[in-house]
Order: sequence, then structure tokens, then C-alpha cells
Amino acid sequence: MKPEEKRLIRRLSSMEEEMVRFLRDIIAVPALSPESGGEGEEKKVEKILQLIDGWGFDSVERYDAPDERVPSGRRPNVLLRVRGRVGNLPPWWVFVHTDVVPPGDLSLWESDPWKLRREGEKLYGRGTEDNGQELVASLFGLRALLEEGMRPARDVNIFLVADEETGSEKGLKYLLKEHKGLFGADDLYIVPDSGEPDGSLVEVAEKSILWVRVTTHGKQVHASTPGKGLNAHLAGMKYSVEVREELKRRFAAEDPLYDEPLSTFEPTKKEANVDNVNTIPGMDVLYFDCRVLPQYRVGEVLAVFREVADAVGRKTGARIEVEPVQMQQAAPPTPPDSPVVGLIREAAEAVYGVRVRPGGIGGGTCAAILRDAGLPAAVWSRIDETAHMPNEYSLLPNLVGDAKVYSLLFLR
Ligand SMILES: [Zn+2]
Repeated sequence: MKPEEKRLIRRLSSMEEEMVRFLRDIIAVPALSPESGGEGEEKKVEKILQLIDGWGFDSVERYDAPDERVPSGRRPNVLLRVRGRVGNLPPWWVFVHTDVVPPGDLSLWESDPWKLRREGEKLYGRGTEDNGQELVASLFGLRALLEEGMRPARDVNIFLVADEETGSEKGLKYLLKEHKGLFGADDLYIVPDSGEPDGSLVEVAEKSILWVRVTTHGKQVHASTPGKGLNAHLAGMKYSVEVREELKRRFAAEDPLYDEPLSTFEPTKKEANVDNVNTIPGMDVLYFDCRVLPQYRVGEVLAVFREVADAVGRKTGARIEVEPVQMQQAAPPTPPDSPVVGLIREAAEAVYGVRVRPGGIGGGTCAAILRDAGLPAAVWSRIDETAHMPNEYSLLPNLVGDAKVYSLLFLR
């Protein structure tokens, strides 16, 4: 490590208590969306702006989305900028969200979700991990640089965005719709909102998601006389097995980027049919969860579901209906060899001493919104994945360690 990197690491180690206090102060302000019965993020953002006052950021810009459902009338999207020392390098964009999900059943919490509780290395509270840890870590990573009298190599833009937990319409999607001009196709985008407990995964791709409900209609009769009816359960099972084989055959591509390298087509939920053992069910409902590699269209997958439904229907005499319950086409992946991935790998490996690899996941982060807009985003953080759970926590070594990763990232 270079001397100036060592200085940054030392400074951040000395800021540990301050980072805990910062996290404590911001999680004390609930930022719930109106969909969750809350007032939005305004008060929390005011608190953050008050806390970072005097840190030496070059500008604070607001790109608030109007929303008459909240008392302030706006959902805050606040851009904190520090200019870099080298001109014409593509800038960093870090998207951290200020909103949180409701605590859920309070009896499952061991302490007040809005009061940070420290036990050993664990910092408990709603929003400590999701997304408080990365919000605090990125801000302190930048602050450490400025306090050491250094400048980031490239412009650093930390965007505090609203509404991530309920669809991003007033957050990231709003920004891409109304302020697309801010973002360049070659800029470096990091969305630190998912990750592995050892920090070893930079997520660059996700699979498409397709959920399907399969309803099989037969004829209900007494179980002693199956010949007089049509067993919908049996036809449904036959269909499940056949459609899964056919899907695996048709969508067989493999991509080692993903932990699970193949597309997956799994029968999951099964609705209850008849109440007693001696009745042949006349109707049967089951569901499939499919995670499909992005090179396939989910519409094609659905078409195969329907094709096999017709074929099995003809063979068995049952009528098989197929309906999509969720359909989400994945955006094209961020290339695993893109600069954003390389820079994150270097910095995370330097701080944590683990081998960091780019990879894909089953689906569902808001980096997909950026990728959909043609902006190559990477998802990284070091977390225990306690988001949305009761007794959510952030590990202190991750809070401080991730701040160190940001400081190294911003320096390069
Ligand atoms: Zn989150």
C-alpha cells in the first residue's frame, strides 16, 4: 500500500466512534415511504445534511421528486459532489438510499428498531445495514480524503436517493427520467446495496424473473372410481415434470458468471386442493419460479409453458391454464472486465485481503434500473444480509472497512 493509502486507512480507523454516532443519529429518523404509512425521507436527509456540514464537499444539489402524499411535498434526492484532481476521468457515482422498510412485528425485535443498540461488533437497528452502513461508509471515505488534505482522482458524486424500497419511482427512476443528462455512459456506477459477508462478490448481472401460476382443471370424483373423473393433481404433476424438462432443454445455455450457471425452472408453491384423502381433485394449482439467463426473453419462456400445457392437455384430457404472476426481463450485464469492476476489486482486496470476483445473482437489485438505462453499474458491499429482518444489524468492521474501501476507490 502507498503511504497516502496507509494514512487514509489510519484516519478511518480513528473515526470509528464517530461513524457509529453518525449511523445512530440517522437511523433514529424513520424514513418510510407513504406506501408504508410514512412521511418520506425529508427529515432524515435534513439530519444528514446537518451532520455533514463543514466537511468540505464542493456542492450539495437537490433533485427532489414532487410527491403530494408526504408533508414536505417532495422526496429528496440529494447529490453531494467533490471535484477530482485529474480532469477528464469518468466520475464516480455512488447511489445510497435513505428510505427504510417498516420494522414489522415489534415483538420480534430485541430492542427499539429506531435506537441503535451496540452489542460487541453488531450495531442493531432498522436501516443500519440497508442502506445506512454504505451511506455512512461512503461519506466517511470521502471525508477522510479531504481531512488528509487529498483530493479524489476523479469527481465523486454521492447520490442520496429516495424511494428505493417501494419501486424507485421517486428516486432513481425519477432521476433517470428527468435528469438523464447528469449521467454518462462511461461513468463509474456503484450501488452498494447487496453483497456477501466476506465482500468477495461484485455483482454485475442478474437473471430475469418469471413466476407462473399453473391451474389444471379435471373432474372431481370419489377416489375409488378414478375412471369416472379426471385427476387434476396427477395431470398437474405430469405437466410440472414435462414442462420443466422441456424448459431445461430449450433454454440450456450456461454462464459461469453466475453461482447457479444455468437458468432455473422450479415448481415451488402448491395450493391446497381437496380436504380428504378419498377424493380425486378436480382442480389443481401450482407455481413455478424461473430465473432465466438474460440472453433469453421471458416471453419465449412463457410461450413454452403454454405449448407444453396444450400438449399435456391433449394427452390427459385436462385443461391446463398458465398465467404469469411476475415477469421481469433482466438488463444486459455490466461487462465483468469493465473499469468499475476492476477498481472495486483492487480496493476491496487491499482492505479485506479476500479474492474479489465479479458474478451474477438470481435477480432483483436497483442496479438493474441503471443497466436498463445503458449505464454499467456494479453492486458491492460487505454485509451479513440482514436487510428487512427483525434485529437488522451492521457489523462495525464492515462499516469501517467499507469506508476504507471507498477512500481507496476515490483516491485512484
Ligand atoms: Zn437497500
